[in-house]
Amino acid sequence: MFYGTDYYPELWPRAQWPQDLDLMVAAGLNVVRVGDLCWSTMEQEPGRYTFAWLDDVLGLLQERGLRVVMCTPTASPPPWLVEEDPTVMPVDAQGRRVSYGSWGAHCYTSSALRERTRGIVTAMAERYGRHPTIIAWQIDNELDVHGKPCHCERCKAAFQGWLRERYSSLAALNDAWGTACWSHIYTSWAQIPTPLDMLAVNAHNPSLRLDFRRFSSEQAVGYNRLQADILGQRAPGQQRTHNLPGRSLALDAQRFAPELDVVAWDNYPIWTNDPQAHPALTHDIVRGLKRKPFWILEQQVGTMDHRPYHAPHPGMLRLALFQAVAHGADAVLWFLWQTYRSSAEQYIVGLRDQAGRTTRFYDELAAAVRDLRAIEHVLDGAVVRARVAILISYESLWALDLQPHMMGDASPWSYVEDCYVPLYRRNIPVDVLAVDADLTGYRVVVVPAPYLADENLAARLSAYTAGGGLLVVTVRAGSKGISNLWHDAPLPGPLTRLLGVSVREWDSLDTGEERQVDLTLPGGRQTCHATHWCEILDCGDATPLARYLDGFYAGQVAATSRMHGAGQALYVGARGVELLTAVLDYVLDLADVRSLLTAPEGVEVAAREGKGRRLLFVLNYTAREQMVDLPTGCTDPATAQPLAGPWHVAAWDARIVCQDLTLQ
Ligand SMILES: [Zn+2]
Repeated sequence: MFYGTDYYPELWPRAQWPQDLDLMVAAGLNVVRVGDLCWSTMEQEPGRYTFAWLDDVLGLLQERGLRVVMCTPTASPPPWLVEEDPTVMPVDAQGRRVSYGSWGAHCYTSSALRERTRGIVTAMAERYGRHPTIIAWQIDNELDVHGKPCHCERCKAAFQGWLRERYSSLAALNDAWGTACWSHIYTSWAQIPTPLDMLAVNAHNPSLRLDFRRFSSEQAVGYNRLQADILGQRAPGQQRTHNLPGRSLALDAQRFAPELDVVAWDNYPIWTNDPQAHPALTHDIVRGLKRKPFWILEQQVGTMDHRPYHAPHPGMLRLALFQAVAHGADAVLWFLWQTYRSSAEQYIVGLRDQAGRTTRFYDELAAAVRDLRAIEHVLDGAVVRARVAILISYESLWALDLQPHMMGDASPWSYVEDCYVPLYRRNIPVDVLAVDADLTGYRVVVVPAPYLADENLAARLSAYTAGGGLLVVTVRAGSKGISNLWHDAPLPGPLTRLLGVSVREWDSLDTGEERQVDLTLPGGRQTCHATHWCEILDCGDATPLARYLDGFYAGQVAATSRMHGAGQALYVGARGVELLTAVLDYVLDLADVRSLLTAPEGVEVAAREGKGRRLLFVLNYTAREQMVDLPTGCTDPATAQPLAGPWHVAAWDARIVCQDLTLQ
């Protein structure tokens, strides 16, 4: 396990460095990230590199046994590079060149950017590629965090070339996009625009917009690859990673992950205002990208700059660390070591404040790390084991993002949260995987809003269900094909046969508006609320599970179930927490998938398993002491003393018990 912090030594007097590092060691930290966003310190003039200061920093780190994640500094090009080529900065959707002055904005087709990137990364890799204290390289920083792909003429030409590669002929493109509609039949590749904002009655063709998302994602991934290839050649023993900006839709993380040795993300929860299911879901998404442990390269310490919410309550830092580890993180680095004295992020509170005092977060981190290090002998090698999978596709999320057609919370992630939160509340471990992942071993598979669907997906889900799996599919399934055209069949398109239903009509509800749904399951009958989106289903050979009680579609079907081979496929055609919770509870019981532990509301239980034992992380996010009933065979992992019966967890506390699985 790695515990660390994000350190910017170039911002502090050299005389302070030994004291900084000694304080890190005293807190139990063993890894430090350096090099982030300091291109103008490393290369003050084109081609003149200044690495002596970094040599000294690495030497001091090595003397103390601290390992290093070295960043390439490319997320923030230096002013001289923008002076050399102003087109390094991207053009936004309004056609305006983005001004220089922040970070995280690139035009990836700029040859100046690519050449200067190649220069600094090559120089760094040659100097540090075999440095014994470096364990990994972080490439760039939160690629495309602002989600503003470039629309310059050069990128437009690259997009046209990309389309030519994808479709081979204009006839194929015109057919795939349905361009006869609105008189958009292209007769030359050069006629095709990027989706700039328009003073028009409606938006660009959704097929063009989806392809531009694909193209822009590939541009960012390609920029990462430029650096990853240099590091692969010159730093062969060091891993390559990247810190994803959480659940961003700027790039397709599932296509990006194979280009990295280890995936990471930056966790900035809104602390007391944010339901803890949100970071839990992102942990599970990122772990699913490579189906192995992941890293947190920036974990929020104190209050944030761009979100003026409460200061974290004492205990929240420990809870965030334990939650990340429970969901599969093998490294957590805290952002940042010391509060910046300058820059627009001055209000981000660090482990040391701007005056050099250690903050209360430093003490809390030291205590939390000490507790985790005491159980490293049981934590080592333990992994998250889930029998439930949620399948997602970034392309489907993009397409939903382009045409939400919904009032209120229209984020495409909300469809995933609809399914994840009931499982989270019941303390069920979940893997979040790509739609083409191997589903062997999963008892329940949930597919939230598989908006883009083809016969391949239908065949895979059909085979899974026929083999005895329990499948739950939710609203807007099978709407579009891969090029974002409607299928020439009723919804759910290719999934119609498997699910045994067709969608006759849908109703998008106003914010706060609800429909009542009568849900009948073998265990009983209940009335649930439906919100946002209600589909009116025609049953083929499926059995109705739920009917609407009001609206002009009272009496019509809202959810169904169909036996298929040795399994069962359920379709939930209306959104609503109660409805989905009840359906998932039914399916989990049917599959004999049980909660890790029954816990009161506000208490999360997550687990890692290995060597015949399970480490249960009990996380109390409430302001009062809570009690859980421990199963048999539990011990304190630090002392090996038996634990039994009612077990108390203090307010805002996180504790761990070790459960012997051989006794189950
Ligand atoms: Zn551009």
